[in-house]
Parts: sequence; C-alpha cells; structure tokens
Amino acid sequence: MSEKKRMVTAIASSGNMTIGNYFGVIKQIVSYQQDYDLFLFIANLHAITTPQDKTKLKENIKTMATLYIACGIDPQLTTVFIQSDVLEHAQLGWILNTQTNMGELERMTQYKDKSLKAANKTSYIPSGLLTYPTLMAADILLYDANYVPVGIDQVQHVELTRTLAERMNKTYQQDLFVLPEALIPTKTPKIMDLQDPTKKMSKSSTNEKAFIRILDEPDLIRKKINSALTDSEDKVYYNLKTKPGISNLMTIYSAITGLTHPEIEQQFLNKNYQEFKTAVSDVLIKELSPIQERYQLLKSGDDLDQWLKEGALKAQKIAYKKLQKVQNTMGLNYKRK
Ligand code: AMP
Repeated sequence: MSEKKRMVTAIASSGNMTIGNYFGVIKQIVSYQQDYDLFLFIANLHAITTPQDKTKLKENIKTMATLYIACGIDPQLTTVFIQSDVLEHAQLGWILNTQTNMGELERMTQYKDKSLKAANKTSYIPSGLLTYPTLMAADILLYDANYVPVGIDQVQHVELTRTLAERMNKTYQQDLFVLPEALIPTKTPKIMDLQDPTKKMSKSSTNEKAFIRILDEPDLIRKKINSALTDSEDKVYYNLKTKPGISNLMTIYSAITGLTHPEIEQQFLNKNYQEFKTAVSDVLIKELSPIQERYQLLKSGDDLDQWLKEGALKAQKIAYKKLQKVQNTMGLNYKRK
C-alpha cells in the first residue's frame, strides 16, 4: 500500500451525471484506485465560486459521493471525503494565494473563459474564478500528491501548483512540497450528443433525448437509444464524418464490451440499425443496472456518512501535519522555533 504513488482528484459537486461522465472520467478514476493511493474529494469549496442554491448543493454533494461509490470506488481502498470537512484546504489555499502574483492568475485560460461567461450573465466577475487555482494547489500539495489526473483544460493549473511548490521550497530552503505531475488520460472515449452527434453529450443540453443519465431507468435508456439520430444507410460501420450517430453508438458499445470498431462491424455485418440499437441498449442497461441498484441501497443506508467521516479524518491527519509544517516554516506559529 505505502509503495503506491499518491494521486489526488476532485469531483465537481454537480448532479445528473451522464454516461459521458461515466465512460469519460468515472471509470478511469475507479481503475486508478488499484495502482495509486487515491484521495478523492467532493470539491464543494470550488462549487461556491459561482452562486449555488443551498438545497441543491447539499443534494449534489450526497448524490456525487453515492454515485462514485456505486460506480466502484471502494472507501476501504480510497480516501473519500468532502473538501470543506478538511479545514486545512482553505487555510493552505489562503497561504498559497499570498504567494501568487496577479499575472499568474489572470493568465489562466479557464479564468479568461469563465470570467467572460460570468460577466455576460451577471455583469460582475466573482473573485473566486480568479483565485481558485490557489485553492486547487492547496488541494494537491496538502497530500504530497505525485499525480493529478486532469483534462487538458486543467493542466495549466497543475503547472501553477508546481510553480508555487517550487517557489515555497526555494524561499524557505526546504522540501516543503512534493512537485505533482498532471496525468492526462489518453484512452477515455468521448461520448457525443444523441440528437446532434457532432457535439459532446452534456447534461446541460435542453433536449432530454440528447443525453443518458447514469441513473436513467432501463425503459428510458432504450427509448433514448432508439431515438438517437442516425443516417439512413442501415449499415453498421464507423465513419465519424458520414455516420457520426452510428459511430457514437459504436463508441458506447466498444466502451462497454471492449470490442474494437472492426470487431463490432463484423458482429453487426448483416444486421440493421434497429438490431444494433437493441444490442447497445442491452449492454448499457446491463452495465448500469448494478450501479443503479447499489446507488439506491447506499442512498437509503447510513454507510455513506460513516465512510465520508472516516475519509475526512484520514485526510485531515495528513493535511494537518503538512499545514503545521508550512506554518512553522513561515513563522506563523509564533511559539515554535
Ligand atoms: P462536466 O460534466 O461537463 O463538468 O464534465 C466533467 C468531466 O466529465 C470532464 O472531465 C469531461 O471531460 C468529462 N465528460 C463530460 N462529458 C463527457 C462526454 N460526453 N464524453 C466524455 N467525457 C465527458
């Protein structure tokens, strides 16, 4: 166990996860727990950088934690917790904030994109959009993480984390922080919108038929797959340009069965679209049903609260030590030498 390299990853506390999230991220994270000492937290302090409805936020936190465990995160193997339960995140976040230059934050692509969107919507820009990379740096550095799995859009933030860690190590001439590396998953499939297969499947789509939720009932899954937009050739083969709809269904089928595209083409050589769609629905329902059952069981039991409490305690022990070391080094604990 101690041989394993440490990995920290955060889950956004938004509800309504789609099969895009499932195949694109969750399955990958579940597979990491075998190879890494994984710390997984619900990033509720990040969520409040934009306005949140209190009841929804609480609900989402619980849904996300329950869903990840239902999808295979094992709380005995992985340290699962809620970010705000470990106070050290905010404390180190502030400290790192003071070590960061405005230019470094203003340069972030995510800040530029998100602040533009916020300004268009509300006419003001929440300052959390600018400063959240320093909280993210704290999330990572508190645990001496070796790896942080991120999408391309977050690599810049891991680079800033390394810069801050190096800066602090140099300023105080100590090995205060481990320098983390961004791990960019390369093999994760991208699931497309069922009604417009040229764009990514997203829960924020206004068309209910465009996406499938992990928790959608089997009948609904079947309906959505059956009404997925396809061409009229009625031949199953992969071609993103001319057959984006069928190609997307092949990607889903491949993600579940492990079959390659040529193998799927072979399997459905003399079959029509209806037969293929039925097969896609069958495997998808078979994949999601046990998750949905576990989800319902966990939702009605007390285990989740206990696991999250234990996770927070374990994380907090490590985070506390790191924060004390940082504070001592900086002269914040005036009684310490
Ligand atoms: P979102 O739900 O859009 O905030 O995305 C959360 C994570 O899920 C991101 O890392 C995305 O890359 C991933 N993700 C979201 N939608 C899809 C999709 N349709 N296919 C693959 N990955 C996705």
